[in-house]
Amino acid sequence: MGLNHEHDHDPSGVGAAARIARHPRTARAKPAPMSAAERKLPAARADRESSVDEIYERIYVAILEHRLHPGTKLGEEKMADIFGVSRARIREVLARLAHEQIVELFPQRGAYVAKPSIEQARDVFEARRLIEPAVLRRLVETLTPDKIQRLRQHVELEADARRRGDKRAVIRLSGEFHTVLAELAGNSALARTMRELCMLTCLTIFLYDAPTAQSCRDDEHQSIIDAVAKRDRARAEKIMMDHLDHIEGSLQLDNANGEADLEAIFRP
Ligand SMILES: [Zn+2]
Repeated sequence: MGLNHEHDHDPSGVGAAARIARHPRTARAKPAPMSAAERKLPAARADRESSVDEIYERIYVAILEHRLHPGTKLGEEKMADIFGVSRARIREVLARLAHEQIVELFPQRGAYVAKPSIEQARDVFEARRLIEPAVLRRLVETLTPDKIQRLRQHVELEADARRRGDKRAVIRLSGEFHTVLAELAGNSALARTMRELCMLTCLTIFLYDAPTAQSCRDDEHQSIIDAVAKRDRARAEKIMMDHLDHIEGSLQLDNANGEADLEAIFRP
C-alpha cells in the first residue's frame, strides 16, 4: 500500500503541490473538533475524516518545507487530536513513515521525525548517484512533448516561488522536481525509491546544512530539462551528477565526530 503517486494520473504535472491543492481538506490547519453527536455517528463522519493518505501527505509536506524538524516527537494522542482521528489511524500513518525511514519508532518512547546520521546521508547520495542517471536514461527513452511540458511547468513553479521569496515552497518544489522526473520516467519502483531518497535528502539538508547551502541550485533543473528535451542523455546525466555534487558538497558531512565547529560559528 502507498500513495501510489507513480500511478496517480496527474495531468497538471506539478506533483504533490497540485495534489494538495485539489484536496482543500488537507490545507486546513486543524479539523473542527468533533461534537458529541458526531462521536456517536462514526459512519456519517467517515467521508470528512482525514484519511491515512491525507495525514501522511500533511506530515510529508511539513518535513519537505522544513516546518517539521528532525527529532521532533510525533505524539500519537496529540496527532489524533489535531487531525480528529483515532490513535489507530495515526499509528498506521506513523508505521508507513517509519517504513520509509522518515520517522523512527522507539519502544516506550514513541515516534520521532528521523535524524539521518552522516553515514546514512552519504548512503543517500550514493544511491541517488546510481538511480538518477537511470531515471534520466529512461525518461529520454520514453520522452513525449507532454512530459517536457510538465517538467517546464514544475520549474516555472520553482522560479515563481523564488521570485516571491517563498523559501518553504522553493525547498519543497526543488525536492519534488527529482520525484517528478522519476514519476515521468515511468518506473514505479524508481519513483517510489526516489520519493524516499528525496525526503531523506531533505532531512539531511536540515541537519547538516552549511549556513550558505542551497538544496538545489536555481538554474540546474532548467539545464537538466533542456538536455532532456534535446534527448542529450550524456549531458543530462553529467549535469545531474554535478547537481548532486553541489548539494552534497554544500552540506557539512565531514564533521563526523559530531562536534560543532565553534570557530566557524563564532568567529567573524
Ligand atoms: Zn535538484
